[in-house]
Amino acid sequence: MPELPYAFDALEPRMSRETLEFHYGKHLQTYVDNLNKLIAGTQYENMPLKEIILKSDGGIFNNAAQTWNHTFFFQTLSPAPAAMSGRLADRIARDFGSETAFREALSKAAAGLFGSGWAWLAEDNDGRLSIIQKQNAGNPMADGLNPLMTVDVWEHAYYIDYRNRRADYIGACLEVIDWGKVEERLMH
Ligand code: MN
Repeated sequence: MPELPYAFDALEPRMSRETLEFHYGKHLQTYVDNLNKLIAGTQYENMPLKEIILKSDGGIFNNAAQTWNHTFFFQTLSPAPAAMSGRLADRIARDFGSETAFREALSKAAAGLFGSGWAWLAEDNDGRLSIIQKQNAGNPMADGLNPLMTVDVWEHAYYIDYRNRRADYIGACLEVIDWGKVEERLMH
């Protein structure tokens, strides 16, 4: 299990202790446990997680990608999130017009994703940024893109705190994204 880089109640009131106890403590733990069981004795047993995601399918892919996606998601959140600045702010302005326009587009992509999945900000090999919807365990690295941040819109991410109000959860989630960490992930 990756370490949660803050206390279970550190993101309250936007994400409750109970949500983190279930989302990190039970959902992510289950993906990790399932993955470890599924890869035991296979070619994937000692493979780095990213490589498993790129080479597998079915249950191994689902549990590997969900392990990676959740680790990445939780590491992007912070009780003291940095504002968007520097290179990232420049790219966002260039590719979306403004930070406000970007936030609206990301929120719309997250709210409009049918069923379970993830709304991603990703970077291509030329440094262009785009918003990508992925269902279920999907991850833009499968398309050759560099993931920069994501919003988990599986119901388990918000149902304890927000019930069916996905849009309210997305707004709260964006308030605890550490844009400094997102900027560190720029590769191009
Ligand atoms: Mn989740």
